[in-house]
Amino acid sequence: MREPVTAYVGLGANLGEPVRALQQALAALGGLPRTTLVRHSSFYRSAPVDAGGPDFINAVAELSTGLDAPGLLAQLQALEQGAGRERPYRNAPRTLDLDLLLYGAARIESPALTVPHPRMRERAFVLLPLAEIAPRLVTPSELAAVAAQRIAPLPPTSLSA
Ligand code: ADP
Ligand code: MG
Repeated sequence: MREPVTAYVGLGANLGEPVRALQQALAALGGLPRTTLVRHSSFYRSAPVDAGGPDFINAVAELSTGLDAPGLLAQLQALEQGAGRERPYRNAPRTLDLDLLLYGAARIESPALTVPHPRMRERAFVLLPLAEIAPRLVTPSELAAVAAQRIAPLPPTSLSA
């Protein structure tokens, strides 16, 4: 048995019912084989970056997983498919996007998987929720660099119903 690895997953959605999609995705992440959901950030609302459509709802989850990185990516993609995601074109609006941000200290560059996620340090919608649950993984200068991007915590009232 391999030692469990701490992995961080970025969640995003901007079609359908994004809050519900993220709540369901968090539950599903905790139900993956050999995986526990350790914690997750609060939910944020962010303007689309290089993408069209309505605002996104975003969050970051910390997992402890016995899956290897390709296996975890395959599970994330299965959850995206289960949420009805289609990929009509690059950066299209999506019902659920699950990105593998970090997998322990691993550095992976394969055609299907790059870890750390190559664009995570440029994105406020990744860095703010990641800093909330893992402050040592994000530097103040990285946060300063994305300060112009529009993002706000989702008011708790919009999490009910
Ligand atoms: P994006 O999340 O960048 O908007 P997609 O979710 O459509 O785009 O992902 C496109 C491809 O990115 C996937 O087919 C997947 O194989 C690849 N990919 C490479 N690295 C990662 C990663 N760290 N997490 C998720 N997908 C990744
Ligand atoms: Mg993705």
